[in-house]
Amino acid sequence: MADLAVPNSTRLTFHDGSCYRCGATGDLLRFTEFGKAVCPTCYPSFFRRRVARTLSRYQMARKKETIGVAVSGGKDSSALLHALATMRHDLGVWVAAVHVHMGLGEYSDRSLASAEELAGRLGVRLVVERTSDLGIELAPVGTFAMCSVCGAVRRALLDRVGLREGWSAVATGHTLDDRLQQMLKRLLTGRLDAPRPVLPGDAAHPRKIKPLCLIPDRAVEAYARLESLPICPESCPQFDPQTHRFRAVFDLLESLAPMAKVQLVQSLGRAMNRPSPGGPDLPCPDCGNPTASGVCPICRLRRLAAWEEPHGEREKRTP
Ligand SMILES: [Zn+2]
Ligand SMILES: [Zn+2]
Repeated sequence: MADLAVPNSTRLTFHDGSCYRCGATGDLLRFTEFGKAVCPTCYPSFFRRRVARTLSRYQMARKKETIGVAVSGGKDSSALLHALATMRHDLGVWVAAVHVHMGLGEYSDRSLASAEELAGRLGVRLVVERTSDLGIELAPVGTFAMCSVCGAVRRALLDRVGLREGWSAVATGHTLDDRLQQMLKRLLTGRLDAPRPVLPGDAAHPRKIKPLCLIPDRAVEAYARLESLPICPESCPQFDPQTHRFRAVFDLLESLAPMAKVQLVQSLGRAMNRPSPGGPDLPCPDCGNPTASGVCPICRLRRLAAWEEPHGEREKRTP
């Protein structure tokens, strides 16, 4: 038990001097979350193997299935698309991609250009959905800020595209840090249902998978950089840093206790085992698509634009 007295900073040093795969020394990438040092040459395949392990650990996809990757043009989803497309033959799956153009001016155009460049480079079919084709413009709805409206519209569209295209699963680029942050937000509001790495599909929803859910942000960023992925350099004009404020909590924890993030996400995943609140989705009265929020987020924006949104109407759940 004397080991417990060893300061954390010296705990994980036995792989630190050289790449754990090829033994190279010098310019190493170190992520305490992995407990390893890896050289830049070995890193991309190390990263992809981590993704493949997460896929198999949570049985995210079976052979011969098609995985549609939701690619925003940012680093997380671009790294995910690149990793899955690079491994598609080994994994025995088909890979396609979908980009939702949210109609937010130049930022959206540049994001689409990044997604198109990456899909073209990888030889992956890219489905582009435009909110303007639906006749909607994003706007805050009631008490919901722009970011949550945007997220709700994107999720609804991803479901519809996934079903329309016959994809077995829709993959999103949520990372370990995203998942921890979501867990903490739920805990702070008294919710004990963990966000799951896999949401099983049904007749109205394709399966949802998060193959980066055990990989920290910094490691995803390193992969995107080393593979020179075309990434939209700007962040969304609507981005609110407040929504990411809990990240610092987990980075501090990781610096005090290496591997704490991975341990915590797994322990919380087991402990937060309550079912998600709310009943099954019901058909939207306007368009018939299944939704958890009475009127689906897309029709809600249509109603808003037509000034039909009843004043003061509030829904219990996300729009
Ligand atoms: Zn190496
Ligand atoms: Zn609708």
